[in-house]
Amino acid sequence: MYPDSDSCRIVPRDQHGISRANISENALKVLYRLKQEGYQSLLVGGGVRDLLLGREPKDFDVATDARPEDVRRVFRNCRLIGRRFRLAHVHFGPEIIEVATFRGGGGELEDDGERHLENGMIVRDNLYGTREEDALRRDFTVNALYYNIADFTVIDYAGGLEDLQAGRLRLIGDDPERRYREDPVRMLRAVRFAAKLGFNIDPDCERPLRAWSSLLGGVPAARLFEEVLKLLHSGAGLVGFEKLRHYDLFRQLFPATEECLAHEDHAFPITFVSRGLANTDRRIQEDKPVTPAFLFALLLWEPVRRRFFTLVDRGLEPHDAMVQAGGEVLSAQLSRVSIPKRFSLPMREVWELQPRFEQLDGKQPHRLAAHPRFRAAYDFLVLRAECGEADPELADWWTRFQEASGLDREGMTGPARKKRRRRRPRAGPGGEGAETRGKPSTGGRDGG
Ligand code: ATP
Ligand code: MG
Repeated sequence: MYPDSDSCRIVPRDQHGISRANISENALKVLYRLKQEGYQSLLVGGGVRDLLLGREPKDFDVATDARPEDVRRVFRNCRLIGRRFRLAHVHFGPEIIEVATFRGGGGELEDDGERHLENGMIVRDNLYGTREEDALRRDFTVNALYYNIADFTVIDYAGGLEDLQAGRLRLIGDDPERRYREDPVRMLRAVRFAAKLGFNIDPDCERPLRAWSSLLGGVPAARLFEEVLKLLHSGAGLVGFEKLRHYDLFRQLFPATEECLAHEDHAFPITFVSRGLANTDRRIQEDKPVTPAFLFALLLWEPVRRRFFTLVDRGLEPHDAMVQAGGEVLSAQLSRVSIPKRFSLPMREVWELQPRFEQLDGKQPHRLAAHPRFRAAYDFLVLRAECGEADPELADWWTRFQEASGLDREGMTGPARKKRRRRRPRAGPGGEGAETRGKPSTGGRDGG
């Protein structure tokens, strides 16, 4: 029945747990339609893996022997994307079903017209292949399982079912280092799946991670942005962050932050990032919105904060110091992990509003509370205060201010208010800002 059936394990429909009831209607539409047109049509990747684990898949990927142009002919609502990998995206409102043509590349990689390598790294791969070849060029065995819509079987070419059962992440093939070299992002994917699924990374695949972490330096910053986001917005961001640091991958992505975390006598910078990520994980689990702007504000805050104090000590006004510190840290960061402007602008606003929380007199608090980024900036302040880096009384004041009625707000900010002195956020001995700790406020200048 299958020309390649001795090289794979085929599990009949009554012996696996995948039910069509758990597959999105749109994915089923795509699968059936391709089959009707005479093509092979299978669900693959995270969708199959998660369904077999009894988890809700994040999205559904389809594999087929139809070429991207064929897929476009079959679906009106289809767009072809990608240069590195040409893919068809079939759009159903907000849901996109990704349809990929079987690709070759499991064996020794060669450079030719359709596949282009640079220093062993795949930079273009549009060499089509058989279904088996398609399975073997995938990253982890558990990501190379297929669900065939023709007969509802599960097909396993790489031992993924056994690894799934064992909770083990294993790269396909017998040379993990070569697989990481071909595509260093697989190192981040290893961390992501280990964190998200609670799987162990196979020792042979785990060993090269630390040694090869610098390979990430060769990956375009825009691609790393996507991967970092998937990892830290996976719902298991805190564990992902800890694993990234464990394998020294974090340093490649956020060198300035790692520098601060590695040489920190006080616990609050790591507490701050960890708590922020735990909050983010909770929000994702509760289906609340999260934004990359807040995530990156969190990750880069410690280098920004330190630079801020250096600049304030040199005599800059707090607002100017924060603008400059944010700009410097961001521009250094962009060479590693790019952050699109639509996220970096609000991220910088969250930082730039922080010194303004110190101004509690007159019209300033009212203006600040009306700022479009106020809520995110306030959440950021509360997090800082929880970690002992900002004044908890200040955060409480702002909590009360928000809850107060208009008249009470006037009372909180009116002339009766005793002039408040800025308490400088704590810094470790020898850390920037340590020598001026406890100094009075550097001024009540309006930051906006
Ligand atoms: P998620 O649940 O996060 O979507 P996923 O495994 O589906 O996880 P995708 O990024 O959607 O991940 O990729 C779909 C599939 O494409 C993967 O399961 C894997 O088979 C293959 N794949 C993705 N990225 C790579 C890569 N860098 N190298 C090899 N195969 C990959
Ligand atoms: Mg997927």
